[in-house]
Amino acid sequence: MLIDLHVHEELFSACSSMSLEDVVTSAQYHGLDAVCITNHDSLDIAGNGYLRAVGFPVFVGVEVSTRQGDMLAFGLESLPSFRPTAQEFIDFVASRNGFSCAAHPFRAWGGGLGDCLDELRGLDGVEVLNGGNDDEENSQAFRACRQLGLVALGGGDAHRERDVGRCATWFPEPVTSMRELVQALKNGRCRPVMRCSDGSYRNWDEYSIALVRNTPLSWLKKGFARLFSI
Ligand SMILES: [Zn+2]
Ligand SMILES: [Zn+2]
Repeated sequence: MLIDLHVHEELFSACSSMSLEDVVTSAQYHGLDAVCITNHDSLDIAGNGYLRAVGFPVFVGVEVSTRQGDMLAFGLESLPSFRPTAQEFIDFVASRNGFSCAAHPFRAWGGGLGDCLDELRGLDGVEVLNGGNDDEENSQAFRACRQLGLVALGGGDAHRERDVGRCATWFPEPVTSMRELVQALKNGRCRPVMRCSDGSYRNWDEYSIALVRNTPLSWLKKGFARLFSI
């Protein structure tokens, strides 16, 4: 089951140009099985009647601007009444049996937790594939996630239709509620995936292999191989 765990809609994320209807239409177009709306510092979209009427699974998480950088969370019904530090937010999420995740931690123009990751206690996951990041920023997140032994997630960070599902998270088993989503994440039964130019999805390992194959050095080597075989 493919879910984009990081999507913004326009009612409660002013930076997005997508309505909920646009999000669902794009998600279906790109072959996703569900989406999770993660508006900035707001869970208010959960009260929208469209979510229950649409007949397509739309979960509601959140992207909170902590003092050290952006964090995603799943399984919350309320938010802190103040701007928390990353550690305060992690503790808040843990006390409500939710799942906390560093969003785009190494985005070069800021907004991520960056090197703070090493100092945090109780963080559950790291978004290692973010649709708004470049390959190096995602690679750095992947390395940090592996080093810390946390759960790796993927999300489009979509603010417009073509970015829905640019990155996503694959679950081997069906996820039908936020409770099940949080449980699957906590168990680490998921893998980050990225949509390729042909519309198919690849997991990180396949994707990084494809990247290596396409570096100028590998083309050079291929050229040499051809040269020497003549
Ligand atoms: Zn963000
Ligand atoms: Zn975002």
